[in-house]
Amino acid sequence: MIDKLLKIFGNYTRSLEILYLLNDIKKLVRLDANEVELKNIKDFCNKENLHLEISDFKVIKIMDKGKGSYANVAKKVPINYPGSGLYHIYISKDKNKAKFLKLLEYKNDDKAVGELLDYPQCCVDFFMENKEKQQKIQNDFILLALNNSEGFKFSFYINYAIRYFDITLLSHFPHSFNCQKSIEIAKINFECIKKYSNELVNKFETMLKGPVLYTENNGVFMFKDYKLNNNILEFNEINSTINNDLLELLNENKKFEIVDKNRIKLKNEIIEDVGFMLFN
Ligand SMILES: [Zn+2]
Repeated sequence: MIDKLLKIFGNYTRSLEILYLLNDIKKLVRLDANEVELKNIKDFCNKENLHLEISDFKVIKIMDKGKGSYANVAKKVPINYPGSGLYHIYISKDKNKAKFLKLLEYKNDDKAVGELLDYPQCCVDFFMENKEKQQKIQNDFILLALNNSEGFKFSFYINYAIRYFDITLLSHFPHSFNCQKSIEIAKINFECIKKYSNELVNKFETMLKGPVLYTENNGVFMFKDYKLNNNILEFNEINSTINNDLLELLNENKKFEIVDKNRIKLKNEIIEDVGFMLFN
Protein backbone atom coordinates (compact mmCIF):
# COMPACT_ATOMS: atom_id res chain seq x y z
CA MET A 1 0.00 0.00 0.00
CA ILE A 2 2.68 2.52 1.00
CA ASP A 3 4.71 1.76 -2.14
CA LYS A 4 1.62 2.31 -4.24
CA LEU A 5 1.00 5.66 -2.53
CA LEU A 6 4.64 6.67 -3.01
CA LYS A 7 4.33 6.18 -6.78
CA ILE A 8 1.36 8.55 -6.89
CA PHE A 9 2.19 11.07 -4.17
CA GLY A 10 5.97 11.21 -4.61
CA ASN A 11 7.28 11.32 -1.05
CA TYR A 12 6.62 9.84 2.40
CA THR A 13 5.21 13.01 3.92
CA ARG A 14 2.43 13.26 1.34
CA SER A 15 1.84 9.50 1.01
CA LEU A 16 1.41 9.07 4.77
CA GLU A 17 -1.16 11.87 4.92
CA ILE A 18 -3.27 9.85 2.50
CA LEU A 19 -2.68 6.67 4.49
CA TYR A 20 -4.05 8.39 7.63
CA LEU A 21 -7.02 9.61 5.61
CA LEU A 22 -7.82 6.14 4.29
CA ASN A 23 -7.65 4.84 7.88
CA ASP A 24 -10.00 7.56 9.20
CA ILE A 25 -7.29 8.96 11.47
CA LYS A 26 -7.57 12.15 9.48
CA LYS A 27 -10.79 13.51 8.05
CA LEU A 28 -9.15 15.90 5.67
CA VAL A 29 -5.76 16.57 4.12
CA ARG A 30 -4.23 19.45 2.21
CA LEU A 31 -1.36 18.76 -0.17
CA ASP A 32 0.23 20.35 -3.19
CA ALA A 33 0.73 18.79 -6.59
CA ASN A 34 2.00 19.71 -10.02
CA GLU A 35 0.09 19.16 -13.26
CA VAL A 36 1.50 15.67 -13.88
CA GLU A 37 0.99 14.45 -10.30
CA LEU A 38 -2.53 15.83 -10.29
CA LYS A 39 -3.65 13.53 -13.10
CA ASN A 40 -2.58 10.41 -11.16
CA ILE A 41 -4.03 11.78 -7.93
CA LYS A 42 -7.39 12.34 -9.64
CA ASP A 43 -7.48 8.72 -10.83
CA PHE A 44 -6.52 7.50 -7.36
CA CYS A 45 -9.21 9.55 -5.62
CA ASN A 46 -11.85 8.28 -8.06
CA LYS A 47 -10.90 4.67 -7.37
CA GLU A 48 -10.83 5.15 -3.60
CA ASN A 49 -14.03 7.23 -3.45
CA LEU A 50 -12.22 10.26 -2.09
CA HIS A 51 -13.39 13.78 -2.85
CA LEU A 52 -10.78 15.98 -4.40
CA GLU A 53 -11.00 19.75 -4.61
CA ILE A 54 -8.39 21.80 -6.45
CA SER A 55 -7.42 25.39 -5.60
CA ASP A 56 -8.36 28.25 -7.94
CA PHE A 57 -4.81 29.51 -7.59
CA LYS A 58 -1.34 28.05 -7.92
CA VAL A 59 1.61 28.46 -5.60
CA ILE A 60 5.25 29.04 -6.36
CA LYS A 61 7.58 27.62 -3.74
CA ILE A 62 10.36 29.78 -2.45
CA MET A 63 13.15 27.49 -1.31
CA ASP A 64 14.48 27.89 2.20
CA LYS A 65 18.17 28.58 2.51
CA GLY A 66 20.06 25.57 3.74
CA LYS A 67 17.18 23.09 3.92
CA GLY A 68 17.87 20.91 0.92
CA SER A 69 15.10 21.67 -1.55
CA TYR A 70 12.56 22.30 1.19
CA ALA A 71 10.27 25.31 0.95
CA ASN A 72 8.34 26.71 3.88
CA VAL A 73 7.21 29.78 1.99
CA ALA A 74 4.79 29.62 -0.91
CA LYS A 75 3.58 32.56 -2.97
CA LYS A 76 0.10 32.49 -4.47
CA VAL A 77 -0.17 33.20 -8.20
CA PRO A 78 -3.19 33.17 -10.57
CA ILE A 79 -4.37 29.86 -11.99
CA ASN A 80 -3.29 30.87 -15.52
CA TYR A 81 0.26 31.64 -14.37
CA PRO A 82 2.50 30.48 -17.23
CA GLY A 83 5.30 29.02 -15.08
CA SER A 84 5.35 25.69 -13.28
CA GLY A 85 3.31 26.41 -10.17
CA LEU A 86 1.71 23.87 -7.87
CA TYR A 87 -1.96 23.41 -7.12
CA HIS A 88 -3.18 23.07 -3.59
CA ILE A 89 -5.48 20.09 -3.28
CA TYR A 90 -7.96 19.19 -0.55
CA ILE A 91 -8.93 15.55 -0.12
CA SER A 92 -11.56 14.00 2.13
CA LYS A 93 -14.14 11.23 2.28
CA ASP A 94 -16.59 14.06 2.98
CA LYS A 95 -17.21 16.31 -0.01
CA ASN A 96 -18.36 19.26 2.15
CA LYS A 97 -15.20 19.19 4.24
CA ALA A 98 -12.99 19.32 1.15
CA LYS A 99 -15.03 22.21 -0.31
CA PHE A 100 -15.03 24.09 2.98
CA LEU A 101 -11.26 23.80 3.37
CA LYS A 102 -10.78 25.10 -0.16
CA LEU A 103 -12.95 28.12 0.67
CA LEU A 104 -11.20 28.84 3.97
CA GLU A 105 -7.79 28.70 2.38
CA TYR A 106 -8.93 30.94 -0.46
CA LYS A 107 -9.95 33.47 2.20
CA ASN A 108 -6.52 33.10 3.90
CA ASP A 109 -8.23 32.14 7.15
CA ASP A 110 -5.26 30.23 8.61
CA LYS A 111 -6.85 29.83 12.02
CA ALA A 112 -9.98 28.14 10.66
CA VAL A 113 -7.84 26.06 8.26
CA GLY A 114 -5.75 24.73 11.16
CA GLU A 115 -8.84 23.92 13.21
CA LEU A 116 -10.60 22.19 10.33
CA LEU A 117 -7.46 20.09 9.80
CA ASP A 118 -7.75 19.04 13.45
CA TYR A 119 -4.45 20.52 14.55
CA PRO A 120 -4.25 20.92 18.36
CA GLN A 121 -5.66 24.28 19.49
CA CYS A 122 -2.42 25.13 21.38
CA CYS A 123 -0.47 24.70 18.12
CA VAL A 124 -2.97 26.67 16.02
CA ASP A 125 -2.79 29.55 18.52
CA PHE A 126 1.01 29.38 18.49
CA PHE A 127 1.04 29.52 14.69
CA MET A 128 -1.31 32.51 14.61
CA GLU A 129 0.66 34.42 17.25
CA ASN A 130 3.95 34.01 15.43
CA LYS A 131 2.87 33.93 11.82
CA GLU A 132 3.71 37.50 10.84
CA LYS A 133 7.08 37.46 12.51
CA GLN A 134 8.00 34.13 10.93
CA GLN A 135 6.90 35.03 7.42
CA LYS A 136 9.54 37.72 7.42
CA ILE A 137 12.18 35.05 7.92
CA GLN A 138 11.62 31.54 6.57
CA ASN A 139 8.26 30.55 8.03
CA ASP A 140 9.95 27.89 10.08
CA PHE A 141 8.84 27.58 13.70
CA ILE A 142 11.48 25.15 14.99
CA LEU A 143 13.48 27.62 17.10
CA LEU A 144 10.31 29.19 18.52
CA ALA A 145 8.96 25.78 19.49
CA LEU A 146 12.32 24.93 21.05
CA ASN A 147 12.26 28.12 23.12
CA ASN A 148 8.80 27.10 24.34
CA SER A 149 10.15 23.73 25.45
CA GLU A 150 11.67 22.48 28.68
CA GLY A 151 15.34 21.54 28.19
CA PHE A 152 16.51 19.88 24.96
CA LYS A 153 15.56 16.18 25.40
CA PHE A 154 12.27 15.13 23.86
CA SER A 155 10.18 12.19 22.74
CA PHE A 156 11.16 10.96 19.26
CA TYR A 157 7.49 11.01 18.21
CA ILE A 158 7.53 14.80 18.11
CA ASN A 159 10.74 15.17 16.11
CA TYR A 160 9.57 17.70 13.52
CA ALA A 161 13.09 18.98 12.91
CA ILE A 162 14.00 16.30 10.35
CA ARG A 163 10.99 16.74 8.09
CA TYR A 164 13.58 18.24 5.71
CA PHE A 165 14.65 14.62 5.22
CA ASP A 166 11.04 13.59 4.42
CA ILE A 167 10.69 11.97 7.85
CA THR A 168 7.95 13.14 10.19
CA LEU A 169 4.91 11.80 12.03
CA LEU A 170 3.19 15.19 12.13
CA SER A 171 1.60 17.56 9.65
CA HIS A 172 1.62 20.69 11.80
CA PHE A 173 4.22 22.73 13.68
CA PRO A 174 4.06 21.68 17.34
CA HIS A 175 3.84 24.70 19.65
CA SER A 176 6.51 23.11 21.86
CA PHE A 177 8.44 19.83 21.80
CA ASN A 178 6.64 18.94 25.02
CA CYS A 179 3.18 19.33 23.40
CA GLN A 180 1.28 16.27 24.65
CA LYS A 181 -1.47 16.61 22.05
CA SER A 182 1.07 16.54 19.22
CA ILE A 183 2.80 13.53 20.77
CA GLU A 184 -0.55 11.70 20.93
CA ILE A 185 -1.24 12.42 17.25
CA ALA A 186 2.25 11.25 16.28
CA LYS A 187 1.81 8.00 18.25
CA ILE A 188 -1.46 7.22 16.50
CA ASN A 189 0.16 7.90 13.13
CA PHE A 190 3.13 5.71 14.07
CA GLU A 191 0.81 2.79 14.90
CA CYS A 192 -1.00 3.28 11.60
CA ILE A 193 2.25 3.02 9.59
CA LYS A 194 3.15 -0.09 11.61
CA LYS A 195 0.00 -1.87 10.41
CA TYR A 196 1.28 -1.58 6.83
CA SER A 197 5.05 -1.81 7.09
CA ASN A 198 7.34 -2.87 9.90
CA GLU A 199 10.28 -1.97 7.74
CA LEU A 200 9.14 1.63 7.28
CA VAL A 201 8.15 2.11 10.90
CA ASN A 202 11.58 0.85 12.00
CA LYS A 203 13.27 3.19 9.56
CA PHE A 204 11.24 6.10 10.92
CA GLU A 205 12.05 5.24 14.51
CA THR A 206 15.77 4.95 13.78
CA MET A 207 15.82 8.25 11.90
CA LEU A 208 13.63 10.16 14.40
CA LYS A 209 15.79 9.12 17.36
CA GLY A 210 18.99 11.06 17.89
CA PRO A 211 20.52 14.52 18.11
CA VAL A 212 19.61 17.28 15.64
CA LEU A 213 21.39 20.57 15.10
CA TYR A 214 19.10 23.11 13.48
CA THR A 215 20.20 26.40 11.94
CA GLU A 216 17.97 28.92 10.22
CA ASN A 217 20.15 29.37 7.13
CA ASN A 218 23.17 27.10 7.52
CA GLY A 219 21.65 23.64 7.27
CA VAL A 220 20.00 21.00 9.42
CA PHE A 221 22.21 18.16 10.69
CA MET A 222 21.33 14.84 12.26
CA PHE A 223 23.94 12.69 13.98
CA LYS A 224 24.18 8.91 14.01
CA ASP A 225 26.36 6.57 16.04
CA TYR A 226 26.71 9.15 18.81
CA LYS A 227 27.59 9.48 22.51
CA LEU A 228 26.45 12.30 24.77
CA ASN A 229 28.46 12.75 27.97
CA ASN A 230 28.45 15.89 30.15
CA ASN A 231 27.02 17.91 27.27
CA ILE A 232 29.78 16.80 24.90
CA LEU A 233 28.34 15.17 21.81
CA GLU A 234 30.60 12.78 19.91
CA PHE A 235 29.45 11.22 16.65
CA ASN A 236 30.65 9.25 13.67
CA GLU A 237 28.08 10.00 11.02
CA ILE A 238 26.17 13.10 9.88
CA ASN A 239 23.13 13.45 7.64
CA SER A 240 22.85 16.98 6.36
CA THR A 241 20.61 19.12 4.16
CA ILE A 242 23.62 21.04 2.91
CA ASN A 243 27.26 20.78 1.96
CA ASN A 244 29.01 23.78 3.52
CA ASP A 245 31.79 24.95 5.84
CA LEU A 246 29.80 24.06 8.95
CA LEU A 247 29.36 20.47 7.74
CA GLU A 248 33.07 20.29 7.00
CA LEU A 249 33.95 21.52 10.49
CA LEU A 250 31.57 19.04 12.09
CA ASN A 251 33.08 16.23 10.04
CA GLU A 252 36.64 17.23 10.94
CA ASN A 253 35.99 17.45 14.67
CA LYS A 254 33.41 14.69 15.16
CA LYS A 255 32.35 16.35 18.40
CA PHE A 256 31.03 19.56 19.93
CA GLU A 257 29.87 20.89 23.27
CA ILE A 258 26.28 21.87 23.95
CA VAL A 259 26.53 25.14 25.87
CA ASP A 260 22.77 25.45 25.98
CA LYS A 261 19.98 24.63 23.53
CA ASN A 262 20.76 27.69 21.41
CA ARG A 263 24.57 27.59 21.53
CA ILE A 264 27.24 25.05 20.74
CA LYS A 265 31.01 25.18 21.07
CA LEU A 266 32.75 23.69 18.07
CA LYS A 267 36.57 23.68 18.04
CA ASN A 268 36.86 26.56 20.57
CA GLU A 269 34.34 28.66 18.70
CA ILE A 270 30.88 29.44 20.06
CA ILE A 271 28.15 29.19 17.43
CA GLU A 272 24.99 31.04 18.43
CA ASP A 273 21.37 31.13 17.30
CA VAL A 274 21.22 27.40 16.62
CA GLY A 275 18.82 24.84 17.99
CA PHE A 276 20.11 21.65 19.58
CA MET A 277 17.59 18.87 20.28
CA LEU A 278 17.94 15.28 21.38
CA PHE A 279 15.06 12.97 20.53
CA ASN A 280 14.67 9.59 22.17
ZN1 LIG B 1 0.49 22.15 20.93
